[in-house]
Amino acid sequence: MTTIAFIGLGNMGGGMAANQAKAQRRVMAFDLAPAALKRAEENGCHPVTSVAEAVKDADIVITMLPAGPHVRQVYNDEVAPNAKPGALLIDCSTIDVETARAVAEQMRAKGFRFADAPVSGGTAAADAGTLAFMVGCEEADFAEIDEALKPMSRITIRAGKFGAGQAAKICNNMALGIQMLATCEAFALAEKLGLDAQAFFEIASKSSSQCWSLTAYCPWPGAGPQTASDRNYESGFATAMMLKDLKLAQDAAAKNGASTPMGAQAEALYALFDRMGFGHKDFSAVQQWLRGNLSAL
Ligand code: NAD
Repeated sequence: MTTIAFIGLGNMGGGMAANQAKAQRRVMAFDLAPAALKRAEENGCHPVTSVAEAVKDADIVITMLPAGPHVRQVYNDEVAPNAKPGALLIDCSTIDVETARAVAEQMRAKGFRFADAPVSGGTAAADAGTLAFMVGCEEADFAEIDEALKPMSRITIRAGKFGAGQAAKICNNMALGIQMLATCEAFALAEKLGLDAQAFFEIASKSSSQCWSLTAYCPWPGAGPQTASDRNYESGFATAMMLKDLKLAQDAAAKNGASTPMGAQAEALYALFDRMGFGHKDFSAVQQWLRGNLSAL
């Protein structure tokens, strides 16, 4: 039986670890939060009291941590000194490309195999085992990584070498943030023009502004499929999370000389919305702000 160490059992990692256990893998689970450990135990994982204990017999180590500094610290200080030689290390957190590349090199220098494998899809996809993984790794390791991620995935795509998974993730989410704002602006203008929101949805979703933010994640309550907008923008992809990804994209753009003016604008708008106190609301809640209806939130 494959033994998996799962580190970071939060909103995303909790469901992901549970799906590994459901697939009859032995999951040694660790998180700093006792409540997360308890939930993991209820979901068939073996809770342990340290990263060292989780990784010592693991064939595969999976991490789902908040940000780059956590990933550097956990891998360098806790995973590397304690994991089995040759273990496959897969970091699924969303972090900056530089850190992903640095940690990959540090782990490879110590004899481990490594992949950055961030995900697309929120907590519902994490719970359902339908995440999309974008992977930066050695080509030779990809088949094994794909197999390791299967209980948690709808699709796994190799983006390229180390850091390529993170690069794909932040480019995707920058485009998503921009598209969501564009969709919200279009609905706000449609309203001012006296156009029925459902009629606009029907037309735009079959016309050239069609995009995921419109047809799969419509920000206008009542239009399109059921989304966070129909739950007053609760429990979706939080504004604060979108802002984190937009900041990563802008940092990467600045460091690599890319011109991303729309991404910069999206970051500024989401930063303001976050500072206004709506960081916990789904990122499509900017709809109510742009239509001048913040009191609805
Ligand atoms: P979260 O804050 O709910 O979970 C992170 C967990 O890591 C927490 O339970 C925390 O206690 C634990 N942790 C922190 N430091 C640790 C350490 N040293 N050792 C062990 N555990 C530690 O965050 P989340 O929503 O699960 O997101 C995790 C990652 O997934 C982030 O990088 C995020 O950007 C990315 N992501 C999130 C979503 C989403 O919708 N929430 C979607 C896609 C990607």
